This record gives sequence, C-alpha cells and structure tokens, in this order.
Amino acid sequence: FADRDGVIWLDGELVPWRDAKVHVLTHTLHYGMGVFEGVRAYHTESHDTAIFRLQAHTDRLFRSAHIMNMKMPWDKDTINEAHRLVVRENSLKEAYLRPMVFYGAEGMGLRADNLNVHAIVAAWEWPSYMSPEAKEIGIKVRTSSYTRHHVNISMCKAKANGHYINSMLALQEALSCGCEEALLLDNEGYVAEGSGENFFLVYNGVIYTPELTSCLDGITRATVIQLAEEFGYTIKEKRITRDEVYVADEAFFTGTAAEVLPIRELDGRVIGEGKRGPVTTQLQTAYFDSVKGRGSKHPEWLAPVSE
Ligand code: PMP
Repeated sequence: FADRDGVIWLDGELVPWRDAKVHVLTHTLHYGMGVFEGVRAYHTESHDTAIFRLQAHTDRLFRSAHIMNMKMPWDKDTINEAHRLVVRENSLKEAYLRPMVFYGAEGMGLRADNLNVHAIVAAWEWPSYMSPEAKEIGIKVRTSSYTRHHVNISMCKAKANGHYINSMLALQEALSCGCEEALLLDNEGYVAEGSGENFFLVYNGVIYTPELTSCLDGITRATVIQLAEEFGYTIKEKRITRDEVYVADEAFFTGTAAEVLPIRELDGRVIGEGKRGPVTTQLQTAYFDSVKGRGSKHPEWLAPVSE
C-alpha cells in the first residue's frame, strides 16, 4: 500500500506517496495516542466529485484532538482544503480519505513533553467495504466476546487510534467464526455498536438506536436519523438488549465505510425476513441519493473538490 504513485498531504505539503514516511520511534506508533477520521468522496450528479459531510468530519477530528489534549497546529479550513487537494491531485473520482493527527518522534516515553503534532490527509479508491451483494442481502453478525470501551477507560467521543485495538479484536473474532461483522456490547451488556459502525433496529415501525454513551457519534448515524425524521419515522435512542435484536423486524449498521448495511442474522438467529427490510431499503436509498447528490434535498452535505 505504501509503494504506489500519488501524493499525500503531510504537514502542509503534498509529498510523493512513497516518501510520506515517519520514524520507527514515532510516539503514536508506540502508545496509540492519535486521532483520525474516515471520510468519503463520491462522484455526484450536481458536482463532479464532492466530499460527503466534510465539515462534520473535520469538526469531529478537532473535537477528538481536543479530548486527547493534542494541540492542532492547523485550522479547520486548512484541513478541509487538504482533503480537496488530495482528491484532485490524485485524480480520484470517488475516494476514501484518511486524515490522521499524531505525535512525532521528537521524544519517547509517556512523559515526553516535547512532542510535535503532525497531520496527514491521504486519499485512495476503496469502492466497497464488504462484498457488493452485502448491501442487498445483508450480513451475518456475531455478538462479540469483547466489550466496547467504557466511557472512563478511553474517551468514546474521540475517534482515537488506540481505540481500534478493541475493534480489530472483535472483528477478527467475528470473521474467524464465519460472520462478517461483530456487534459489541457495552460494559453493562447493552448493544453499543459494530467494530466500525453504529447500530439501528426497526420494530413495529419505530427505529431504535443505542444512546451515544459508549459508541462513536457517527456522522452516518446523524445523517440517517435526519433522513428518517424527514420521512416521518419515530426514532428512539434507548438501551437495546441482544434479544431485542433477535426479534427485531429489521436491523442495520451505518458508517462512512459501511454506508447503510442491512444485518440479516445475529448469533445464528435470522432477523425479520432474513434480508434487507423495507425501512432499511428506504433509508439506504435516501442515503445513496444524498451522497451522490441525486435530488437536491441536502446540497449542504456536499463539499465539491473542484477549485
Ligand atoms: N463507530 C465506530 C467505532 C467507528 O469506527 C465508526 C466509523 N468512523 C462509526 C461508528 C461510524 O461513524 P461514521 O458514520 O461517522 O463513519
């Protein structure tokens, strides 16, 4: 992945892909204290290529840095512009973007007090997070044996590098059991989220999602809630048990990478009809219409990359 053409924005400059390197004593590599985002750009009907909800992602990146007490040496406009630049300069029509903020190799140890904050924004083509059919037929999920972060162990509002040890352990376990994603419970045993997605279920026409206490404040989650409200659905944030998921009419994940992804099975129990349900279909269609700029309901969500 490191050996390819292209450019990456690194600390204010566009650097050839192969030269965008750090030292092995990079602090964040050792202790995981860093923050990042996952962002997508789509080829839209209204503009050529536009980054979906760029400002919301940049706002969350800065909130994550603030929580981790990392002093950002750039302002939001500079980071936004870096996103547009890497999509344009790499001639990408659609892209996954990865801004990341990390401590450098200026010092070592937990007590290092001379660390500089660095940032990258990279962009590449990453068409589908799962198999293309998954969006239609849904995925098989397993409740994880790994508990989601507790609010006072790691700060759940931050999208921090080190948090993803938990996600990877859960995902590896789910994959090794023949499932496609994990469902993590919080430390009290209630449904929290997937390894990289927020969770929703539909029961008797009402949409439920866990409160944000121990899950990430997902931008796709907020988008889907807004779209569902516009359709007139009632959305309730509440504690959800795993057996409520077993008997749900529909369930789905949301995330920038996963988009709106139906869940057809949890722990071997078929959910609803065992395929994408009507509410999921409606919200998934509305989500894809929004990211691709079809119709003009939310042009404010699209940040065109053109100059
Ligand atoms: N939860 C976790 C743990 C995630 O990593 C992600 C992906 N960023 C999400 C939820 C979904 O967030 P978003 O919709 O902002 O991508």
